[in-house]
Amino acid sequence: MGRVVVGVAVTVAVATCAVAALVVGRRVRSRRKWKRVANVVRELEEGCDTRVGRLRQVVDAMAVEMHAGLASEGGSKLKMLLTFVDKLPNGTERGTYYALHLGGTNFRVLRVQLSGQPSSDLEHEVERQPIPENVMTSTSQDLFDFIASSLKDFIAKEGDGSNISKDTRELGFTFSFPVKQMSVSSGILIKWTKGFSIVDMVGRDVAACLQEALTRKGLHVRVAALVNDTVGTLAVGHYHDPDTVAAIIIGTGTNACYLERVDAIIKCQGLLMTSGRMVVNMEWGNFWSSHLPRTSYDIDLDAESPNPNDQGFEKMISGMYLGDIVRRVILRMTLESDIFGPISPKLSMPFILRTPLMAAMHEDNSPDLREVARILNDIFEIPDVPLKARKIVVKVCDVVTRRAARLAAAGIVGILKKIGRDGSGGITGGRSRSDMKMKRTVVAIEGGLYSKYTLFREYLREALNEILGEDIAKHVILKVTQDGSGIGAALLAASYSS
Ligand code: ADP
Ligand code: MG
Repeated sequence: MGRVVVGVAVTVAVATCAVAALVVGRRVRSRRKWKRVANVVRELEEGCDTRVGRLRQVVDAMAVEMHAGLASEGGSKLKMLLTFVDKLPNGTERGTYYALHLGGTNFRVLRVQLSGQPSSDLEHEVERQPIPENVMTSTSQDLFDFIASSLKDFIAKEGDGSNISKDTRELGFTFSFPVKQMSVSSGILIKWTKGFSIVDMVGRDVAACLQEALTRKGLHVRVAALVNDTVGTLAVGHYHDPDTVAAIIIGTGTNACYLERVDAIIKCQGLLMTSGRMVVNMEWGNFWSSHLPRTSYDIDLDAESPNPNDQGFEKMISGMYLGDIVRRVILRMTLESDIFGPISPKLSMPFILRTPLMAAMHEDNSPDLREVARILNDIFEIPDVPLKARKIVVKVCDVVTRRAARLAAAGIVGILKKIGRDGSGGITGGRSRSDMKMKRTVVAIEGGLYSKYTLFREYLREALNEILGEDIAKHVILKVTQDGSGIGAALLAASYSS
């Protein structure tokens, strides 16, 4: 009897020890895997460092590169393209003007009615439609016939339709691809981007191609202005507020333009008048500096992209890429641990996580992060992600977006510095920064990433305040425009109409 009791007691003790060892072992393993994930997050945070000191270095680098790009052709990764836009709309324009916008998510046709009085609510009509994929890779004739037909249909809907061949209409053409401009109304396509590939167009005058197509369709429409989307945004910003000095696009891609003194455009001295101002299209998506905080995810994304070593700034900032950076970090975590369960093959698919969904995860306010779980399940087919892992995903989105927004802010301050609107000049006789005169300065901003992503917008503003200091920053106003890139082209058609 005694032996049996002892035997049972021993068995129980051994079993208890085994279970305890198992539990401890599992806990240790679990702790290790969370630690590995925490390391991935910590490394990411360090790699994405945008403390204000570093942002100031980016500001300086931007201003330096702007100088270099203005000094000589090919002097910088910033192309600093001339636009020949030397007067911006001011509200006195009058009449009906048209615009076409190619290069955004949708192709757009617009009509704007101008009364000769600046109006806060510009009367305009817009029609949007996607460009059929076959047209994007066909011939220039197919592309421009498609565009001209859309305009013809749009005009035909005015009144009774008998007006197609009435007096000449003036049109602005927003063409958001890199163009070497020859005048306000002509320019040569340097290269296609964003999925367009019409080989016979490169090197040809875009406005002339459009003009020929309009004439083929029997339309009496004159292409009065050929503009980049940033320039359109600046035009509409300036129409509403004459203190507007620069415009930024932060959507699928990113770019900026600003008003420069002509005598600062050294590479064209002799060609241009030496007084006055001209809008310069920076093509800032291609900005690069060793001060930009770059991670292994950025390096891989760039190497696997169709345009390696190109558009480096854009790849850290714009809506095309942010979701994919986050995807790469989550993939790395699943390779390091099983906090997301078995590795889903979807995690290896480039661009499967679009930025709007990444933003939705970032901005999920539900206590159990339901939206995060849903998106991880829908997009990556990862079910039942534990709350702790969902929180980590939100953290990753936060780090990636915060870096993007803060770098965009540094870019903006770089422009302000270049044109002496960053408050760093003009200090007289020992006055403090807060006493000096800082002119009211407006920057027009357009694009879905900025206008629809609240946290991005807040981080950008916060960084601007940090870099400039509140006293200077309060004079810098960021104004969202909508359809500005198209409406602005119509306004420029008015400014430059014959
Ligand atoms: P485009 O840049 O093509 O002219 P938009 O300015 O409308 O068009 O920007 C669209 C881009 O903005 C999308 O590609 C996406 O990256 C981003 N975006 C749109 N909606 C959101 C959103 N809710 N949250 C975050 N980013 C968004
Ligand atoms: Mg756009």
